[in-house]
Amino acid sequence: MKLYPWLIKPYNNIVQQHIKKKAHHAVLIKTQRGIGVSLLIWFISRWILCLKPVGTKFCNECHGCKLMSFKSHPDWYYFQSEKNNFFNIDYIRIINEKIFTCSRQGGSKIIFLPDTEKLTESAANAFLKTLEEPPKRTWFFLVDYKNLNLHSTLNSRCLIYQLFAPDEKDSLNWLKNNTDKKNRSCLTALRINQGLPISAKKFINGEIWIERINFYKCLFNAFKNKNLLNILPKLNKKNSTIQINWICFLLLDSIKFNLNQKKHLINLDQIKLIQFLSFNYTHVILDISIRTWMKCQYRLIQISGINHELLLLEQLLKWEKILNIEFLQT
Ligand SMILES: [Zn+2]
Repeated sequence: MKLYPWLIKPYNNIVQQHIKKKAHHAVLIKTQRGIGVSLLIWFISRWILCLKPVGTKFCNECHGCKLMSFKSHPDWYYFQSEKNNFFNIDYIRIINEKIFTCSRQGGSKIIFLPDTEKLTESAANAFLKTLEEPPKRTWFFLVDYKNLNLHSTLNSRCLIYQLFAPDEKDSLNWLKNNTDKKNRSCLTALRINQGLPISAKKFINGEIWIERINFYKCLFNAFKNKNLLNILPKLNKKNSTIQINWICFLLLDSIKFNLNQKKHLINLDQIKLIQFLSFNYTHVILDISIRTWMKCQYRLIQISGINHELLLLEQLLKWEKILNIEFLQT
């Protein structure tokens, strides 16, 4: 397992603090999913638990390294919550039990707690006490993916480290080396995934990429046949909100094309469809279209028990009217 290139600098920064013996005992990393923060913390933990590190590298041979490579180091604690479960006060009791007993290997102990937004208020308060008076050689790594600042007092006890998505150029180079897709497709996948390289890789190498291409093909054909209802079977699925996002991205691209902002297009692999829409419609019409799709998406998500097929059918009929589809020049 290798560290992603964009994580090398943060890794060195944090490990250097340990080498200088100036490391803060609790580091809170604010970031987004899809950058690889868990891998970063895993690598830092490997360095901390290595018995004979050389510079910023762990030796990979000592007993500590061997235990880590078998994922069985008794002083490495990873607290992951089940999908939608919160960390309640019992979790903090378990953490305290672990850290206030002696380290099993006689060295450091590491507590990795991702998803701090999942701490309940009472759990956060209890954890605060642990962070204020931590036992020696105990290192906490926390991750906040939402940046909601829910537990501001807790945050104030930690060293905050912000981890951003890498530059588009760097992400693109990495993605091109990790897929057999073309440059244009890689850039499209990155932009759809807010520049997050790992999410983009998963997206471009998965079924969803093919589904997306087929969806746009079907949409283009529906325009040519002047019958948007043809896309209903493709839309009326469990993940229809994703497809609505694709429609909105496409409409947004057509507005950008209209306004000569081609550098910022998202769907670089759908130029013909974008050209077609921007040639036929003004940005005002395209903007109204986006708004109605967003409203439809909101209703799909928020209103429980609503008939999805009926709602999508109504939206498609409305969209045909907005676009004046009968008079479309194909
Ligand atoms: Zn080692």
